[in-house]
Amino acid sequence: MLSDAVKTRLREIVGPANFLDSLEDRISYSYDATLYQAMPEVAVYPEHAEQIAAILRLANEAGFAVTPRGAGTGLSGGSIAARGGVVLVLTRMNHLLEINTDDLFAVAEPGVITADLAAAVAKHGLLYPPDPASQAVSTLGGNVAENAGGLRGLKYGVTRNYILALDVVTPTGDLLHTGSVTVKCATGYDLTQLIVGSEGTLGVATKIWCKLVPLPEHKETLRAVFSDMDAAARSVAAIIRAGVIPATLEFLDHVTINAIEDFKRIGLPREAEAILLIETDGQRDAARAEAAKVMEILRENHAQSVQTAANDAERAQLWAARRAALSSLTRVRPTTILEDATVPRSRIPDMVRGVRDIGRRHNLIIGNFGHAGDGNLHPTILTDARDVEEFARAEKAIEEIFQLALSLGGTLSGEHGIGMAKAHFLKNEIGAAGLALMRAIKHAFDPNNVLNPGKMMLDANGE
Ligand SMILES: Cc1cc2nc3c(=O)[nH]c(=O)nc-3n(C[C@H](O)[C@H](O)[C@H](O)COP(=O)(O)OP(=O)(O)OC[C@H]3O[C@@H](n4cnc5c(N)ncnc54)[C@H](O)[C@@H]3O)c2cc1C
Repeated sequence: MLSDAVKTRLREIVGPANFLDSLEDRISYSYDATLYQAMPEVAVYPEHAEQIAAILRLANEAGFAVTPRGAGTGLSGGSIAARGGVVLVLTRMNHLLEINTDDLFAVAEPGVITADLAAAVAKHGLLYPPDPASQAVSTLGGNVAENAGGLRGLKYGVTRNYILALDVVTPTGDLLHTGSVTVKCATGYDLTQLIVGSEGTLGVATKIWCKLVPLPEHKETLRAVFSDMDAAARSVAAIIRAGVIPATLEFLDHVTINAIEDFKRIGLPREAEAILLIETDGQRDAARAEAAKVMEILRENHAQSVQTAANDAERAQLWAARRAALSSLTRVRPTTILEDATVPRSRIPDMVRGVRDIGRRHNLIIGNFGHAGDGNLHPTILTDARDVEEFARAEKAIEEIFQLALSLGGTLSGEHGIGMAKAHFLKNEIGAAGLALMRAIKHAFDPNNVLNPGKMMLDANGE
């Protein structure tokens, strides 16, 4: 429990307008996009790094937990205040500070919305490639902490590949600058990359230097419909094998297609077993040549039909299905559990088949969609948490999906992180030595375990 003296000190640090402790406010900050929920005692909105440093120094003195939070769209429970205490909401640190068109980087505070950064740099003919499907609301700080991926991950990589440098407040309240805006940097341990993907457990990012690239001149978009799931999965492997790396290569399965038709009615063929959405980009001729090659491969692999977009309006129409996937699936049953176990892309057919078998064995509806080109699908279990017996089957199915991914040489998470959702499974992938080393790194940064405790590798006592 936070004492009155600690609450008073917190209010002084951030100012009364940035301090919330009413029940309504605490409830608002008690959940994210998962099923987890825990009540913080206080939510504060810092406006600069020194305030965050003062809060973390106080947390070390008084012994309370501090949980950083961006937009709360996380899918692994990362911004849930698992141990109560203070939620540090970074959305008021939302200034875009610089767009440098000579050295191709932007500098932003952590609360800047991902899509706002992308729109601002696009006006200068530049691209910030990481584009999580949540980009209209997610923050850069949350993207950095989760190493967010997105639809362009196949060709352009993920958030990690675009973070040059960071200002960070350490869990003990020190101000740290990591990395460099130079193209190359081989100076000591790469603390920037250690903090990217650390899920708010090693420090609070307060300023972010993002690498930019030139906007591609041209895009070609294709949508292919398949009556056979294996043929779609084989096409993915064949496209990559042919040396074509599309900017995006997305997949929707039969369950997802029908959920979209139930709720959006955009004219997808209900009998289809799979749809692939593919976009090539770059110089006009190169993007067109790649699209022609993709078309050839889709036909060789017996796509039932392939549509192409002649302009931006048609492109938006083709993409509408992918954009509607998750929101449509969530309407099928009361509870949605979205997973992101990831496999080497050559194993996608095995993963898709395996997830289907798991669904059948446990008598569950599992939709499957996602970034097929990255091997990062999102098996989505549609269930009802109030039905104890069915939910127990869903939990067993999740465990089996993780085991399946690992048995195929994959990983527990492609982009959503470990958080609370997968903490108990982490050891299965990284082993006892990996877990001990991760805990030692956490201890070196955060000896009193005040910053986002109870996440990722749990505490040494397994809690
Ligand atoms: C509809 C939907 C679609 C999604 N699509 C994608 C997708 O395509 N790809 C993908 O990767 N993810 C996706 N996500 C998941 C989520 O949007 C991402 O993980 C995103 O990066 C979270 O950003 P946020 O601002 O909401 O962070 P939050 O959820 O608030 O926090 C996430 C983590 O970051 C930490 N954190 C936040 N800010 C900071 C900071 N400044 N310093 C240190 N730690 C911090 C928190 O403690 C927490 O551990 C999706 C989620 C939804 C709901």
